[in-house]
Amino acid sequence: MEWQSLTKEDCAKKLGTNMKTGLSSGQAAERLKKYGRNELQQPKRRSLLLRFLAQFSDFMVIVLLIAAGISFITSFLEHNNDYIDSIIILFIVTMNAIIGLVQESRAEKAIEALKKLSSPHAHVIRGGEEQRISASELVPGDLVILREGDLVPADLRLIEAVNLKAEESALTGESLPSEKRADCICAADTPLGDRYNLLYSTSSIAAGHGKGIVTATGMDTHVGKIAHMITNQSAPQTPLQKKLAQTGHWLGSGALVICLIIFIMGLFQHIPPIEMFLISISLAVAAIPEGLPAVVTIVLAIGVRRMAANRGIVRRMPAVEALGSASVICSDKTGTLTQNRMSVVELRDASGPVEIQTEKGRQILDLASLCCNCTVSGKTIHGDPTEVAIVAVAPTEKNRLDAQFPRIREIPFSSERKMMTTVHRLSGGRFRIIAKGAPDILFTHCTSGAARQNEEMASRALRVIGVAYRDVDVLPEKPEEIEQNLIFCGLIGMIDPPRPQVKSAVELCKKAGILPVMITGDHAATAAAIAKQLGILEGKKRVITGSALDALSQKELEKNIYDYTVFARVSPEHKVRIVKAFQAHGEVVAMTGDGVNDAPALRAADIGCAMGISGTDVAKAASDVILTDDNFATIVAAVREGRGIYENIKKTVHFLLSCNIGEILTVFVGFLLRLPTPLLAIQLLWVNLVTDSLPALALGVEPIDKNIMNRKPLKPNESIFSGGMGYNIIVEGCLIGTLSLLAYSIGRIYFDLDPSAPVIGRTMAFAVLSLSQVVHTFNMRSTRSIFEAGIFANPKLVLAAIACVALQLAVIVIKPLSVIFKTSMLTGYQWLIVASLSFIPLAVVEIEKAITFRNSNHRL
Ligand code: ATP
Repeated sequence: MEWQSLTKEDCAKKLGTNMKTGLSSGQAAERLKKYGRNELQQPKRRSLLLRFLAQFSDFMVIVLLIAAGISFITSFLEHNNDYIDSIIILFIVTMNAIIGLVQESRAEKAIEALKKLSSPHAHVIRGGEEQRISASELVPGDLVILREGDLVPADLRLIEAVNLKAEESALTGESLPSEKRADCICAADTPLGDRYNLLYSTSSIAAGHGKGIVTATGMDTHVGKIAHMITNQSAPQTPLQKKLAQTGHWLGSGALVICLIIFIMGLFQHIPPIEMFLISISLAVAAIPEGLPAVVTIVLAIGVRRMAANRGIVRRMPAVEALGSASVICSDKTGTLTQNRMSVVELRDASGPVEIQTEKGRQILDLASLCCNCTVSGKTIHGDPTEVAIVAVAPTEKNRLDAQFPRIREIPFSSERKMMTTVHRLSGGRFRIIAKGAPDILFTHCTSGAARQNEEMASRALRVIGVAYRDVDVLPEKPEEIEQNLIFCGLIGMIDPPRPQVKSAVELCKKAGILPVMITGDHAATAAAIAKQLGILEGKKRVITGSALDALSQKELEKNIYDYTVFARVSPEHKVRIVKAFQAHGEVVAMTGDGVNDAPALRAADIGCAMGISGTDVAKAASDVILTDDNFATIVAAVREGRGIYENIKKTVHFLLSCNIGEILTVFVGFLLRLPTPLLAIQLLWVNLVTDSLPALALGVEPIDKNIMNRKPLKPNESIFSGGMGYNIIVEGCLIGTLSLLAYSIGRIYFDLDPSAPVIGRTMAFAVLSLSQVVHTFNMRSTRSIFEAGIFANPKLVLAAIACVALQLAVIVIKPLSVIFKTSMLTGYQWLIVASLSFIPLAVVEIEKAITFRNSNHRL
């Protein structure tokens, strides 16, 4: 259908809708059934089986399975009992794959849920009432309301357009917004970019407002038809994931070399090649930390779910790490630091205060009310909070005013212009121009002003709006001429109290080494007064205005950026300069934004935070994080979560790598000493793929350390192994390895009857390796003593530890299992030795923590 060549009335008729009241809810429900949801078809998810098989795609695991297969066939042919080994290997690898699959699905679900939370909405008129619905519920014929910053939710035919401009670059390649009109008709063969009366899904409203009727939804839209062009991009990896993948490769190559050496040495010791091959491959599977990036993915996914519950929805994963290193938070004032609940408290004219009930008071408020875009239905007023406050106190009801003085033109408000003008028809063919806006700007359009009164009000933290007007016989054509020679009428002062949580959040920022900065379109004095109340403006810090900022070059701004914590009367484009100036000093900057023009700053910032309530779709699409409650305190909470997630990743990596080193060392040193292998292939695999992975996952969900915000932000490029972690991993790995070897030697020398088949020695090494790692998990919990951090503070870890100990005991004390795992029942005395050795890592790390803590206290 060529909708562009039909009149809007014909379109409405063809689509069976009413241009005033839209569809009824019954019609909408029926059409939803008929046309389906307004969604682009997602590529099909891989089946469970495929995802399960993908868990085996690691090269080393495949080699292991092949080796196990060969071992199975040879033992079968030779009629010996060793083929059980191969079956057990398959069993252990399968168990590991199941754990992997469950974790992966949980991570995917968390991300899926996040996507849903940040999915777009649309404003429609149904049954004559404005409703906010999920964009996926739109149906052909729906009457959609469009406002600046909205993403166009489906293909639409415009029926109303006020200064409407749409950004259609995704479809037409044209980066400048194109003008849109409702009353024109285009030829059927008009190219897409010139169809002024149509809007296409995925474009956005750059300016103005209007209404349109949905002509197509979902796969029937223009983008739906070219959907194959939109490739399904996989989530970008975070810098840490990339770095860990690199580290994993590096360590993996090292492990592989060691495995090769062990294999060759084993051959020299006349161990059957297939058995030796199994041992070295099992060691390789165990020791190569190829799972590191996966661990990060899981910890990240669990963390972002926790963050979403705390009202911060992460749209891009890398932002989580940036949150952990955030060092500057630039925040809008209105609505983020304050409640955005305005109430008019004072009126003034050039000579001083004016009572609301007086003639002058009525004039100021009624004029301002006429120049507002709110809609009033019954007792409720919808619209911009500043305007709602005005309309709520205006003595004459807005609908009556609008009927008496019909509006014929509007020059809209924007954060750049900071004023808005409307033109109304008066009786007798004359016109009234009414302007309202930031007083200092408005005065430049007036014949006179009231600067002193404005300053006085602003210094008391009031948000001040000036009102001016002019009656004319002939309306000038150009907007600049309309907004000239206005007569100043009065000032409206409103309060917008700070949000209650913000003061303590600002306090917390400072403790955490984060600089809180206020960025606002409001007057310098108003901004300063509120910033002082909140603790943002303190000591030598100063306020700078947008015009003063314009006078500075970017170099000068960079040099002086730390002088200021309040940026007042700024426009969205100043935000980009501020972000860049801080970034030039290596700061990691979080920046808030809500409007269309904030998108570049949100993109430039390391963490772009869009407002969930007041934010436009465009700002949300450009952001990394959406604050569902628009609150500054939520950013600070997200930073805390970001730091917590990083800590948990660090703990998990630390744990896994130190265990890997312990395992490789046990086997390697055993071979170097020309001893029979201290651990068998299945024992190695068991420890690594089963008993290790449970506590590692539990470490990933550690509760956040209560002192986490007393530290400085993480340095963005700092290695995860810095701060002594690399050293600790090696020392602790060596300790675990030494203890296992010690257990092996004790068992072999003192208890085994045949030292060439050291069953007890192996059992003791196997038990110490596994149990000392369980004990070691508790070392990871905190940099402080575990007795201070609490042994039972993470119930999941306690459960994982109990499960591991139970599983480990099972493969030693339960008869059929001990046969399979080639272990032997230990005596009470032997168990005592195993237990004592297993607890040594706890004692050693506790002593080390005590020494480090004392040293750091000395330094303070
Ligand atoms: P922030 O940037 O912190 O959200 P803000 O809401 O004050 O602060 P803007 O919305 O850019 O920033 O507003 C700038 C100024 O424009 C305000 O201080 C006010 O004087 C004026 N103003 C705000 N809203 C309107 C409006 N609807 N009509 C006319 N003038 C307005």
